[in-house]
Amino acid sequence: MRVTSCGITDVGLKRSHNEDNLLINEELNLFVVADGMGGHNGGEFASAICVNTVEEIVENMEIGDQLSVDQDDPVELVREKLRYALRLAGRRIFEKASESPEFHGMGTTAVSMLIDGGNAFIAHVGDSRLYLVRDDRVEQVTEDHSFVARQIKAGVLTAEEARSHRMRNVIYRSLGYQEDVEVDVEVRAIRRGDQFLLCSDGLSGHVEPFELFDHVTQYGPQEAARRLVDLACERGGDDNITVVIASVDELS
Ligand code: CA
Repeated sequence: MRVTSCGITDVGLKRSHNEDNLLINEELNLFVVADGMGGHNGGEFASAICVNTVEEIVENMEIGDQLSVDQDDPVELVREKLRYALRLAGRRIFEKASESPEFHGMGTTAVSMLIDGGNAFIAHVGDSRLYLVRDDRVEQVTEDHSFVARQIKAGVLTAEEARSHRMRNVIYRSLGYQEDVEVDVEVRAIRRGDQFLLCSDGLSGHVEPFELFDHVTQYGPQEAARRLVDLACERGGDDNITVVIASVDELS
């Protein structure tokens, strides 16, 4: 399998520091975007704990032994391992935040993708997103754990109204605010030519899905990522902006 990838994280135009973090591990085919929150340096610390913990757990194959899953089912094993990685990240952030007042109230959203055995395992908490560009369409695979996403689902708000809604930043699930958190995990069989885009809300808040599609299909991962960050900045850049693009060039 050959996967080409690129990631950029950018402070944007309005914030004094960058609380987002990303991880690209090409050996593991592991990709993470985390969007930290919380005063002082808490946000960037929380998102850093998140990406480091996910990498540590995915790298450590033996961890599967600690999970109560069917060890003979490789798909279930990987899915539960990725879920465990994010839950453990949440627990570590929660513990650090409880220990030291300067980190009190820190947390992070996260989206993570691991490509393994012909499948993409996609885990997320909060409103960091993963999009899949396949054939001639773009699909938002992750469903935001946010107030406005619920309202859209209930038919109360349109996607366009949600974009400028005063509660657009309200999320009801993230890592670090509670000791344990529910993590959603999707499994998709990958196809040659699939392009995955992970991002923080600093990008998805300014750029429409069709624009993501246009960039990802028109340019290579590096060029597309750069241009998308520039576009989010042109439109205000009021938040940190992170994007990771992973393109499945060959399956075997
Ligand atoms: Ca953000």
